[in-house]
Amino acid sequence: MHCPFCNETDTKVIDSRLVANGGQVRRRRECQTCRERFTTFEVAELLMPKVIKQDGTREPFDEQKLRNGLQRSLEKRPVSVEAIESSLNNVRHYLQALGEREVKSLVIGERVMEELRNLDQVAYVRFASVYRSFQDVSEFQQEIDRLKEPQEKISK
Ligand SMILES: [Zn+2]
Repeated sequence: MHCPFCNETDTKVIDSRLVANGGQVRRRRECQTCRERFTTFEVAELLMPKVIKQDGTREPFDEQKLRNGLQRSLEKRPVSVEAIESSLNNVRHYLQALGEREVKSLVIGERVMEELRNLDQVAYVRFASVYRSFQDVSEFQQEIDRLKEPQEKISK
């Protein structure tokens, strides 16, 4: 791998370990020319199913889009990047394990909500409220009631 600082090709791996529940390999590399160090993340690339959107159109699975959605829901919540990556891995693995060439966006959304419910309940409600675009407040309230310990009171 080329050094991102001086562009030399001779870089050496000085540390390597599994992260995100073994879904990624984190490598520390050192350039043998300028001695700068940098980090790479390695992820196995398997074919992902196409996503069938609500309107019937197909689009490629976009992991970055999913990551952005999760991060938005988790804004200012006490959840580590590591935990988010781990959840993304779970979603990716789930989709690959389905073995389908096409998957409805709904299926992905439901799986993401499952992950969020485990990560952080506030983020889960945030995501669910946007994702399911609740029709009225009572529907939203039902979702909150389903959580064991509501963290915030709803004031009138
Ligand atoms: Zn270098």
